[in-house]
Amino acid sequence: MAECPFCRIVQGDLPSKKVYEDDEVYAFEDIHPQAPTHVLVVPKKHIRGLPEAKAEDSQVIGHCLCVAAAIALECNLQGSYRVVCNSGPRAGQSVFHLHFHLLGGRDMRWPPG
Ligand code: AMP
Ligand code: ZN
Repeated sequence: MAECPFCRIVQGDLPSKKVYEDDEVYAFEDIHPQAPTHVLVVPKKHIRGLPEAKAEDSQVIGHCLCVAAAIALECNLQGSYRVVCNSGPRAGQSVFHLHFHLLGGRDMRWPPG
């Protein structure tokens, strides 16, 4: 989608600090980091968010989670990190292209705000 910022990042039309890429998934540093490690993992395919995901998206969504875990390992987070998917405006989703936040490198509280 031409007007979607994360589609533009995936296509290289907007700059990003790339962390990982394969045929299906792109990962890059969040522009406003909320933790020492804050990486966004997105499917290259435009999916608006988790509420809009279809059964056919299951594989790429699972792959996003595995990529997040691999990046966490690479970043020496020592098995302690959080993967977040804000889903819908009331949950804080602000960019409507499905993405998983990988947050780590500091203590986390629960419940989240
Ligand atoms: P959410 O609020 O869950 O939709 O998360 C969107 C995230 O995207 C926020 O953490 C933003 O800081 C981040 N973000 C927005 N635009 C960019 C960008 N151009 N490059 C990197 N991160 C971005
Ligand atoms: Zn998109």
